[in-house]
Amino acid sequence: MTTPPPARIPAAFIRVSRCPICAYSLKDLADDADCPECGSTIDRDLYTSPQMQDAVAATKAWCTMGIIAWVLIALSYWGLSTAGLSVMNSYYPGMYGGNHFLAVLFRTAIAIAPIALSCSWHRNAKRIIYRHAMRRDHREPKTPKRVIAINGLGLVLLLLGCCGVLP
Ligand SMILES: [Zn+2]
Repeated sequence: MTTPPPARIPAAFIRVSRCPICAYSLKDLADDADCPECGSTIDRDLYTSPQMQDAVAATKAWCTMGIIAWVLIALSYWGLSTAGLSVMNSYYPGMYGGNHFLAVLFRTAIAIAPIALSCSWHRNAKRIIYRHAMRRDHREPKTPKRVIAINGLGLVLLLLGCCGVLP
């Protein structure tokens, strides 16, 4: 019988190489040293715990799904609106000018905000979750609510758009 490979990297093999608070390099320091840059005591057990790894994986999954959803929303909104304006122009030449197309582009750009946020959350997931957990009584690592809110909103909007509820 073969034993299945471990689902997670054992905590002992993960070294905390950067301060989770200020990102200062902890490379040549003792394993229990405080951060020399900001003076934070680093909870290495929390930072390397399986719960932490799960929360980071969940957060990154939310961000990835959300980014895809927001990109699709932006592309379909821009595509449909631009096509709509062009069709109207073919019936009533000159009805919609460059400013209308520009307005569509600006409204499309609103989706850049959640995309940029999710990219940054994806990149800094571990540090964000660690900092949140440190503020909780039980130091329990969890996916931040705003990550679920922004990316969940993208997924819901995309779903509504696909179902034809939104124009
Ligand atoms: Zn630090």
